[in-house]
Amino acid sequence: VQVQVSDVRKWAGREESAVMEPPWPADLAGRLDWPLTGEPTGTVTVRNMGESLLVEVEGEALVQAECGRCLTSFPLRLHFQDSQEYRLAAPGPEDDWKAYAGDHIDLDDLVTDAIVLAEPLAPVCRPDCRGLCPQCGQDWNQGPCACESPVDQRWAALEGFTPKRPDTD
Ligand SMILES: [Zn+2]
Ligand SMILES: [Zn+2]
Repeated sequence: VQVQVSDVRKWAGREESAVMEPPWPADLAGRLDWPLTGEPTGTVTVRNMGESLLVEVEGEALVQAECGRCLTSFPLRLHFQDSQEYRLAAPGPEDDWKAYAGDHIDLDDLVTDAIVLAEPLAPVCRPDCRGLCPQCGQDWNQGPCACESPVDQRWAALEGFTPKRPDTD
């Protein structure tokens, strides 16, 4: 992914947006936890800050993830967003901006990092996914199983217990 900056770098305050275009970073698939399904989509915005160019990337990528609770494979939409400052000079060790030269800035690292960061640690197929029974493996989204849940076992001792009425005599 590249962005052309030949116009925007001419004067401070200028801002340009463009649709992100392939080729997508070659190592993107290898950096992701889940396989990409289709190509990412997004926009690049470049703002001339005077001393530097501020580049913002934003978009969506679709991956085929596995639910951390019920292990079902499901399509997961990742919304990614990140920004990076670029200057026509080499950064020192303390600087958080990067160098660029010429009419284009290569955004492969920025886009890859943004999409990797957008991946949730433990994706779930839906917020209220009930998950699998740890004992028999039954998918609780399909219905309850015959196992007693830990909560039931805790209260099992009370089964058949009928509180006595206070003696009124
Ligand atoms: Zn699930
Ligand atoms: Zn069970």
